[in-house]
Amino acid sequence: MLDGSPAEIRVPQGEGPPAAALIDGTALAAGLRARLAERVHRLNRRHGVTLGLAVVLVGDNPASQIYVRAKIRASEEVGISCVRHDLPASTVMPELRQLISQLNQDDRVDGLLLQLPLPPSINPDAVINALNPEKDVDGLHTINVGRLAGGRPGLVPCTPQGCMLLLRSVRPAPAGEHALIIGRSQLVGRPLAQLLLQADCTVTVAHSKTADLAALCRSATVVIAAAGRPELVRGDWIRRGAVVIDAGINRVTAPDGTSRIVGDVAFAEAASRASAMTPVPGGVGPMTVACLLENTFAAACRRRSLDPATV
Ligand code: NAP
Repeated sequence: MLDGSPAEIRVPQGEGPPAAALIDGTALAAGLRARLAERVHRLNRRHGVTLGLAVVLVGDNPASQIYVRAKIRASEEVGISCVRHDLPASTVMPELRQLISQLNQDDRVDGLLLQLPLPPSINPDAVINALNPEKDVDGLHTINVGRLAGGRPGLVPCTPQGCMLLLRSVRPAPAGEHALIIGRSQLVGRPLAQLLLQADCTVTVAHSKTADLAALCRSATVVIAAAGRPELVRGDWIRRGAVVIDAGINRVTAPDGTSRIVGDVAFAEAASRASAMTPVPGGVGPMTVACLLENTFAAACRRRSLDPATV
């Protein structure tokens, strides 16, 4: 699995073959982290660099707390030293700017991650653009957005990068695929459209005002869902043999009060028509974290004029 080939695991069939191969994001991410750990170690041995990631969390959003803990655990596992800065929800813009300015200047910090969402009183664009773009490991600074749109090197948002690696694990040369992205957020849909275009896919971006999403889906050979709507995409929307990447993370509560996490795609239905698809959880989520670590490594190398590909 670590070479990126689809897992042998088969999902239950609904309407008959093909039953999708499971694209195992957990295993793919573990492989990425293992290789990265070796490169982090080499960077330290050859160049004396200890990688540092600063994570800023404002407020007490429970999901953010979980994500931050997972990111810090994964960072430390590959040898990136992590410092977490917790600020109360009452934090005002000047205080946050002051912390960011201090971290921008701190030479021990290679990557600077601002966990979103921020409390409603804080304008996220203003804070994101206060980050040093060379340390912006989420790739959301306007300079990095522009670099991506222009096809120039820069830091690329983690979830779209993860989606591309998952896609390439089953379609190593995706040129000519008709890729439908469901969602046009700055975090996922828009940067993903740029990456798919760079890979020579034909790209359609759907959003909440899109007419006849089902018909668009049926014409796509690759569907990447990032709408945040539980099981929006039904099995009979999926073209036979399509690849389905599900970035959605939605908690749904059953009438008996139990809750579970589902994606934006009705998994069992879609798996009976897709050729390969990601599960939720265990698909895009772990790849997002692995790509954050890759970005931190890339940022550290670029700041020192080293080529991350050759370290
Ligand atoms: P977002 O900012 O809320 O954007 C959602 C997008 O989906 C918007 O563009 C919206 O359209 C579109 N949309 C909503 N309902 C739709 C519908 N019925 N039909 C078509 N399009 C629809 O969300 P996000 O931050 O991009 O996140 C999307 C999902 O990915 C969420 O479930 C989030 O939890 C998940 N996510 C996962 C990871 C991960 O690591 N796995 C990382 C980031 C996000 P409009 O623009 O018209 O409103």
